[in-house]
Amino acid sequence: MVEKDGTDLGKRLYIKTYGCQMNVYDSARMADLLAPLGYHIAPAAGEADMVILNTCHIREKAAEKVYSELGRLRALKRARAASGGRMVLAVGGCVAQAEGAEILRRAPHVDIVFGPQTYHRLPAMVAGILAAPAGGAARGLLDTDFPEEAKFDFLPEAAAASPSVAAILSVQEGCDKFCSFCVVPYTRGAEYSRPVADVVAEARRLVAAGAREITLLGQNVNAYHGAAPNGGAGEWGLGRLIHALAEIAGLARIRYTTSHPGDVDEALIAAHRDVPQLMPFLHLPVQSGSDRVLAAMNRKHTADDYRRLVERFAAARPDMAFSSDFIVGHPGEDEVDFAATLALVEGIGYAQAFSFMYSPRPGTPAAQAPQLPDEVKAARLATLQELLWAQQRRFNEACRGDVLPVLLERPGRHPGQLIGRSPYLQSVHVEGSGHLLGALLPVRIVGAGQNSVAGVLEADVPEIGPAAAAVSA
Ligand code: SAM
Ligand code: SF4
Repeated sequence: MVEKDGTDLGKRLYIKTYGCQMNVYDSARMADLLAPLGYHIAPAAGEADMVILNTCHIREKAAEKVYSELGRLRALKRARAASGGRMVLAVGGCVAQAEGAEILRRAPHVDIVFGPQTYHRLPAMVAGILAAPAGGAARGLLDTDFPEEAKFDFLPEAAAASPSVAAILSVQEGCDKFCSFCVVPYTRGAEYSRPVADVVAEARRLVAAGAREITLLGQNVNAYHGAAPNGGAGEWGLGRLIHALAEIAGLARIRYTTSHPGDVDEALIAAHRDVPQLMPFLHLPVQSGSDRVLAAMNRKHTADDYRRLVERFAAARPDMAFSSDFIVGHPGEDEVDFAATLALVEGIGYAQAFSFMYSPRPGTPAAQAPQLPDEVKAARLATLQELLWAQQRRFNEACRGDVLPVLLERPGRHPGQLIGRSPYLQSVHVEGSGHLLGALLPVRIVGAGQNSVAGVLEADVPEIGPAAAAVSA
């Protein structure tokens, strides 16, 4: 559909997003970037004029999964060409960064390969591809630089068209830590923090568009050190940024993820004590409870350092709940090391956690070391997960009878059901009418399962303001 001024309003864009919340954020920004070119989001690849795979390299066989998806898309692209249409096919994200030109070699029907740090150049890349005749001999475009310019300076303002009650906001990207097992420093590049003023402006826009909760995102979010606002000297850390965001009227909840134990500072711990909008829940990955393995992982903290941090957070905010990431079967891990991980988990008591079998990532140091057998890794993972799941059930069960402030985010699967989040990131199911979506209401927890809790809205209670976000019975 083409307007008189030449604006094409009818192009459909399908983005398939793999992996973490950072990719979810990036995909939304890609859609914002392509909107001025006339692209709007389509629910499926079949009829799309452009398909983007926004990939993740963290999980096993990530690249192979992308190649097999590209195989399926080749058939769709051919069918579209046969019916006189054209599908532009692009691969972005961390697999694109890692594989680069190999994608164009193995899947020559791909038009564009771009990395996490170059997606602000997408409009120019798409224009370049569309300028060439469809089915012509032109090769696909490759842009996996780590450019000098900061991507964020070239992104349009995040669209307020589809406001989310619980929004995500990227404040920091990349990582300089080089954990032995991790591809992030290679695919996302060096650590970068957005200036405070940009973050606050984006948060204000999100709140004006209806967000009540904002999760600050970063690969290493507590390494945040953004340039001070208003020409002020120096840089602000995450704790100070959180204080500034808490002044935004209407922003009821602030969260941040993912943190590294080595980057926790006193200001961040104090923010949990002093800022009621900051939720009493922290995802703080430890990876292992063995100092030997932590050293081999290049984590730069010991198990006791981690325990002390948890104690300090809990002292600042007594109802603080914790989550973590664990890797089992890192090269060199023996039964004693694994027992130390179990002991750490027993001692801390997590509200939830993610656990993974170590899987080698090409180009990372741990991939070159002798590997443990898969059966050993699988058995350890099963043991650890059993313990973590039991802790999660226990945490949910302990909330029974409490009245928790719940931000009602979306309709549930059943008619009349709403789903919200407690301060501790639990999924809370309640009965209620759709007009309550977006409200932050007290809910009495009456049932607890493995992955969610059930509650009933407390009758006749006015909406909870930010300062009461800490309320719990
Ligand atoms: N920056 C965060 C940190 O330092 O903990 C985590 C980033 S990473 C995207 C998320 C999680 O994936 C990690 O915490 C780790 O547990 C897991 N992970 C990363 N590389 C892995 C690998 N090669 N094998 C298994 N799990 C891995
Ligand atoms: Fe990867 Fe996190 Fe380690 Fe950085 S700190 S290398 S993102 S696991």
